[in-house]
Parts: sequence; C-alpha cells; structure tokens
Amino acid sequence: MRQFFTARPATFALALVAVVFAVDLALPLGVAAAVPYTFAVLLALAARPGWVGPVVAGLCMVLTVAKVEIVPERGNTEMWKVIVNRCLALFAIGMTTLLGLLRRRAEERARQHEAALARMGRLAVAGELATVLAHELNQPLAAVCLQADVAVHLARDDASPELEAALGEVVEQSRRAAEIVRSIRRTVRRAEPERGPVDLNDASRAVVRFLDWKARRSGVSVQLKLTDPVPPVHGDRVQLEQVIFNLLQNAIEAGARVVRIESAPEGDAVVVRVRDTGPGLPDPGRAFERFFTTKPDGTGLGLAISRGIAEAHGGRLSARNVEGGAEFTLALPAHREERP
Ligand code: ADP
Repeated sequence: MRQFFTARPATFALALVAVVFAVDLALPLGVAAAVPYTFAVLLALAARPGWVGPVVAGLCMVLTVAKVEIVPERGNTEMWKVIVNRCLALFAIGMTTLLGLLRRRAEERARQHEAALARMGRLAVAGELATVLAHELNQPLAAVCLQADVAVHLARDDASPELEAALGEVVEQSRRAAEIVRSIRRTVRRAEPERGPVDLNDASRAVVRFLDWKARRSGVSVQLKLTDPVPPVHGDRVQLEQVIFNLLQNAIEAGARVVRIESAPEGDAVVVRVRDTGPGLPDPGRAFERFFTTKPDGTGLGLAISRGIAEAHGGRLSARNVEGGAEFTLALPAHREERP
C-alpha cells in the first residue's frame, strides 16, 4: 500500500486535490473542507523534482480562495467565520509546506554528509594503498634502474649496440614506472582536512545514525553514554567521524550483541571509548598493522587509517581486550578557546 503511494506521489497528490476541491464545492462555506488539502501537500512534498510540493501547495491555496468566489453559499455561517475558516486552511497548508520543505532539506543534508563520509572512506583506503605501493615499489624500481644503468655501460664496453639499446629501454621503462607510482600517490593523496571545532558527542551520534540500519540488521544494540557537554576538539569532522565509524562498524562485524560508546573529558583530552561484547581482538598487538585482517573481504586498513587520523590530530587510538569483548579508546586534545 505504501509503495502504491510512494511510486507516484505527484499523481496521487493531484487526484487528492481534485477530490478535496469537489467536496469543498459541494459543501457550504461554513464547513472547514479545505483543511484536507494538507494531506495532498504532504504527498506532493515526497515527489521529485522538488518544485512539485510548493506548486501543489500553491494550487491548494488558490482553490481554497477560489471556492469563496465560485460557490458563495454560506448557509447560516456569518461572513467573519467564513474568512477565519479559510484563513486557517491557508495557514495549515502554508505551515505543512514549510515544515515539509525544512525536513526535506535536513534529509538532503544528512544524505550528503553520509555520501561525504563514504567517499572519504574510499579515498582513505585508496590513499593508504597508494602510499604502501609507492613505498614498496620505489626501492626495487630504483635498484632495477641502477643495475640496468650499469649493464648499459658494460654493453657499451663490449661494443654491443643491440644489447645497449635493449638495456637503455629497461632504464627508460623503469623510470616511467617509478613516475607512474609517484603520480598515483599524488592523485589519491588525502584531501586537505578542513579543520575547526568538532563536538565528539555530535560526531558519535551522527555515526550511530548512519550505522543504525546495519546494527539493527545484525541484531546489535548500540548504547550511547555520552557526557554532555564535552569540550570541543580541533580537527576535521568528517575524518573524526570516519574513526568512530570504523570502530563501530568493526564491533558490529565482530558479532557483538551490545556496543557501548562513551565520551568523557579526561585531563586535557576528550576521550571516546567504543566497547563491545564480541569475541575480542584475535591479536591485539597486530590490530593496527596494515593489511592485518581476519575478514574474508576485509582490507585490513580501517584501523591503520584511523590511528593515522588520530595521530594527525595530535591524539591517539589504542585497543585492548577487556572482560567479554574489545575496547577502543580515542583520545584527542581538548580545544580551548584562546582568551584575548
Ligand atoms: P578490516 O575491518 O578490513 O579487517 P581493520 O583494520 O578495521 O580492517 O581491522 C583489522 C582486524 O582487527 C579485523 O579484521 C578484526 O580481526 C580485528 N578487529 C577490529 N575490531 C574488532 C573488534 N571490535 N572485535 C574483534 N576484532 C576486531
């Protein structure tokens, strides 16, 4: 039934407008028959493109006023009551439209934020892979270059032009390969962080919202025990959300039944702890190692990237096994406003 309405909301909205208008015309002016237009507006606000909602709302308002001109039959109702009645209908339609549009904008923002988080996650993995590749390939490529250079000289001494040409090609191609590795590294380098004050409580709540569907599907209960307020930290909100996101996602994927996210100021730092009731870390010493994973489709980069982000913010990310699960602690320096 719901699908039936959501498939073509604009059509249903217009059909409802026609029905309400017909009923409104049939009834005397004293009856508040224009109020049901608000349901049509609600339906229209779900339609794409975004202008359908406001246009349908405008149409409803015009029809609400037009009825007074088309069928001026008032019954026993005084004129002032008719006017108040119509004004209330206009107000209801207007408010429904306004609230609907505000809600839609908030949803749009949340969607964009979620997309940014996913994009950042993919970029971070690509950046990390490129760093490792550049690092690992640089040395062997440099060695190939050097040895081929030496061989070119030997071939020259032996007066073997074909061998010299072939080795020259090896030098050329290995230099090219080294340049390609460097350019990939430059292309996927992490975007410049946008730094500002970040409330880690807000970040935690946002992450819980993003992963709500995944937690529910896996039968995991996520509990927030936040100390409110905590001092802000200075950093890139999307990156810091990325860290909490990785921790919560790992806990869910580890098969925990309950995950608890706590926040608290501790000394000069703000701490976020993610504790779960899963099987615990298989090897706490290696959890932050690049490419260490126990998942069939894991990259083993999530925790390495998260620790890198924490350290780039002047903080740290640590892990340990506690009674009945794993516990991760993110500690970041609190950002105090400098007083003039
Ligand atoms: P990935 O998720 O791709 O495996 P990560 O770096 O995020 O990469 O995690 C590395 C490994 O650490 C995981 O494969 C898993 O074995 C272990 N791990 C991480 N978080 C938890 C947790 N909450 N409980 C148990 N094991 C965990």
